Amino acid sequence: MADSNDVDVLIIGGGLAGLCALDAVLESGRSARLVEKTTALGGSTVLSSGLVAFAGTDEQRSCGIADSSARLREDLASTGLAMSDPALLDLYCGEQLATYRWLKDVGVVFGEPHAGSGQSVPRSHPVDTWALVTELARRARAKGGVIDLSTSAVRLLIEGERVEGATLRTASGDKRVHAGAVIFASGGFSRSESMLRRFAPAMAHALRAGGEGNTGDGLLMAAKIGAGLADLPYIKGTFGIFPFRSSAEEGTGILVVYKGAIAVNGHGERFINESLPYKVLGDACLAQPESLAYQIFDEQAMAQSESAVPIYDFRRRLEAGQIHQADTLEDLANGLGIDVEATLATVHAYNEAIQNGTSDAFGRTTLCGGVGTPTPIVRGPFYGFPSTTVLLATYCGITFDTETRVTDVYGAVIPGLYAAGEVTGGFHGNGYVTGTSLGKSSIFGRLAGQRAAQFVASGQ
Ligand SMILES: Cc1cc2nc3c(=O)[nH]c(=O)nc-3n(C[C@H](O)[C@H](O)[C@H](O)COP(=O)(O)OP(=O)(O)OC[C@H]3O[C@@H](n4cnc5c(N)ncnc54)[C@H](O)[C@@H]3O)c2cc1C
Repeated sequence: MADSNDVDVLIIGGGLAGLCALDAVLESGRSARLVEKTTALGGSTVLSSGLVAFAGTDEQRSCGIADSSARLREDLASTGLAMSDPALLDLYCGEQLATYRWLKDVGVVFGEPHAGSGQSVPRSHPVDTWALVTELARRARAKGGVIDLSTSAVRLLIEGERVEGATLRTASGDKRVHAGAVIFASGGFSRSESMLRRFAPAMAHALRAGGEGNTGDGLLMAAKIGAGLADLPYIKGTFGIFPFRSSAEEGTGILVVYKGAIAVNGHGERFINESLPYKVLGDACLAQPESLAYQIFDEQAMAQSESAVPIYDFRRRLEAGQIHQADTLEDLANGLGIDVEATLATVHAYNEAIQNGTSDAFGRTTLCGGVGTPTPIVRGPFYGFPSTTVLLATYCGITFDTETRVTDVYGAVIPGLYAAGEVTGGFHGNGYVTGTSLGKSSIFGRLAGQRAAQFVASGQ
């Protein structure tokens, strides 16, 4: 540590990205301090469904799923509608297997991979994010890392063009902390109404989820010193949440559409190919009357409920009284309060297209991304679930390069400033592949810690 610095690397934010960065800095032999503005670590990470996208894993191999970094790269580029930064896609795909192996060494247990949004093969690996966060914090403390809760970074300290620390706010006042490098890992802004009004007015009717501290602080601090911003036009909500109650536990919603359900609006009409990425479904749902849709399905889809995967845990929602069950489709539509005749006609047309092998009205040929085959909705009992769109994360933010250095509005590096996780933009482009938020938080978080430590060691 330079004599004038309080710490080598200051990390802002205690979710997955920040904790991975902390581990990497300490591993590099540098001192590190992580500040978390709320009273607990975890942020959105511990509220999430815990699905992480890695390709070519042991778990995929055990299930006979052939996958590779190259295939993942293709899915990321096509789902992002070619609006992602190709260099960041290369970075993710180049580093992902090493990060997966490292997480296994940390003790993470990866569950059986499931198909997810934008995936041509199943690669959403369920993990226990709470256990992961707890273990990373334990490791960091054991290596001498400092973690301060209830401590908020409010301004960057700048000398010339270089970032040299931050002003930290606690209950006892403000304090300037000097550091050789600073890493932003402060998450997105799904909890800032003022920023959502400014940057995502189309999400006005989407429900909100995410860590309570995710109010865009990092993005604002970085913008104040000229950082570039990317992907702001592509903020999208996720389809599938129950609209009439909201709690952290229900923040994930369920996607029966990816296991065989169709989605209809209150008029009983389908409005989209349901196997498209759930953010595309989210936008389409917001355009329906009252921003509402209904996932309609039969026992074949219900039988695929998976208690280990929140987005596919249908039976828990049935037990919670959120899913309506009926012996006939007519009773189901009545119970849901949607147009009965139109719903029957819609299901009939959907079933007929599958049974006759004729083309589906919306071009649906799979269940989820490139996986699964649609089945007719015929086997009772029948089920329906009112669903709307929820903003889980903001998927946009500060621009950064392949060394995880923050870049300014002209693309030049801002010396001493690094970023990782949901605070960053440029990676997802105009779409989202399931599991790549936690994926990028771990991959780029770890990399940011390594690169920031190298920067400090170089004495630049
Ligand atoms: C309900 C839900 C389900 C999801 N499911 C999935 C999923 O299955 N797969 C997936 O890949 N992604 C999922 N996501 C998205 C994913 O969880 C997040 O994008 C990811 O966890 C972000 O990690 P992070 O470390 O960047 O931010 P976070 O985990 O949000 O951590 C950021 C931390 O920074 C703190 N902070 C903010 N400002 C300051 C400040 N000024 N000073 C100090 N600390 C600050 C915050 O309090 C927070 O604790 C889901 C999100 C939600 C809400």
